[in-house]
Amino acid sequence: MDSAKESVTRIVPCPTCHTRVKWTAQNRNRPFCSERCKLIDFGAWVDEAHTIPGDGEHQDVSSKDLGTD
Ligand SMILES: [Zn+2]
Repeated sequence: MDSAKESVTRIVPCPTCHTRVKWTAQNRNRPFCSERCKLIDFGAWVDEAHTIPGDGEHQDVSSKDLGTD
């Protein structure tokens, strides 16, 4: 019996730009193709969250982590 598990690499589409991305342990940005796409997607839902009214008291969103480019 040969275990062919290791030769199988899962390919997933990047949610941001739909580039095919190898789902590997080395790819820490998965399922995104790059850190840039990851931040774009993250920024998108953060932006959505900001449009939700009623929570204007707390503005200590950790957006600093994103601005290190
Ligand atoms: Zn991408």
